[in-house]
Amino acid sequence: ERMVDGELLEEDETIELSLRPSRLDEYIGQDKVKENLHIFIQAAKMRNEPLDHVLLYGPPGLGKTTLAAIIANEMGVQFRSTSGPAIERAGDLAAILSSLEPGDVLFIDEVHRLPRTVEEILYPAMEDFFLDIVIGTGPSARSVQIDLPPFTLVGATTRAGLLSAPLRDRFGILSRLEFYNEESLCEIVKRTAEIFNTSIQDEAALEVARRSRGTPRIANRLLKRIRDISQVRGETEISLDVTYLALNMLQVDSVGLDHIDHKLIKGIIEDFKGGPVGLETIAATIGEEPETIEDVYEPYLLQMGFIQRTPRGRMATQKAYAHFGMKENDES
Ligand code: ADP
Repeated sequence: ERMVDGELLEEDETIELSLRPSRLDEYIGQDKVKENLHIFIQAAKMRNEPLDHVLLYGPPGLGKTTLAAIIANEMGVQFRSTSGPAIERAGDLAAILSSLEPGDVLFIDEVHRLPRTVEEILYPAMEDFFLDIVIGTGPSARSVQIDLPPFTLVGATTRAGLLSAPLRDRFGILSRLEFYNEESLCEIVKRTAEIFNTSIQDEAALEVARRSRGTPRIANRLLKRIRDISQVRGETEISLDVTYLALNMLQVDSVGLDHIDHKLIKGIIEDFKGGPVGLETIAATIGEEPETIEDVYEPYLLQMGFIQRTPRGRMATQKAYAHFGMKENDES
């Protein structure tokens, strides 16, 4: 397990519930998304209508689930949560939808992984709030329509492009979550420290923020580990020294890269002369699924400008060479 993996790990589960902000104004950063949602929520409440369906997309750990729960809270309705892969049959989804109260928020994580047959019953449900279900088989099969209470679907996915066009088109509000800047992450680290009942020096909080890949989930996970080490060392406040020490022990470098990122980037540099090299080849070199690289690890490396995507594959950038103290071979 990687310390810098944005996806939910077992060790996160015990802390995350207590760390989730429950209101929009406690949700740090993502100002544009928040501003939009605030307006849409106010408008829906004034009209006494459910909120339009919302698609939240962006890398794991940025706060999609948290935001979905906040939307329900702000609308004053129930929050129901499931995920694409958990819904195997159309009947499973029909059961969930018909058990909703008017206005409820149904959150579907990894909404791009809904089976096609399930996805198809979502279309009329989202658009006109009814279920179109076929009962029986063969010549006696007939279609029945069942009315649903109006509801809000909040879907989450890593990339909007993973959704089929008909599904994507049925979301009225599309919000892309971005990596958090250092300032917002620093605020999140301090907030988490407060909930943990520990204090942390400003410079230490900033250092955690710098190494968290723009991702709150990673920031919180790192802080939890650092706090343990700080406590064992008898500190009353988490110091910068212990933060350095802990992050080095955890093998997270100055910009949040770990040994797998190093292997990935150095692989491009050393084995492929800096690239371009195909995603599949990179995946094979470091023993990861191409999809995991594309959705979880690569977005941060691209954002930081360590690698570049070209039509012929991934390339290491000047910045990557510099980070590893290597020189680019001038072959021109
Ligand atoms: P995702 O669904 O995108 O994978 P989550 O909503 O599960 O991410 O967020 C992971 C954790 O990060 C949450 O438990 C929460 O503690 C924290 N978090 C996410 N976004 C924020 C934010 N804007 N402010 C404070 N904490 C946040």
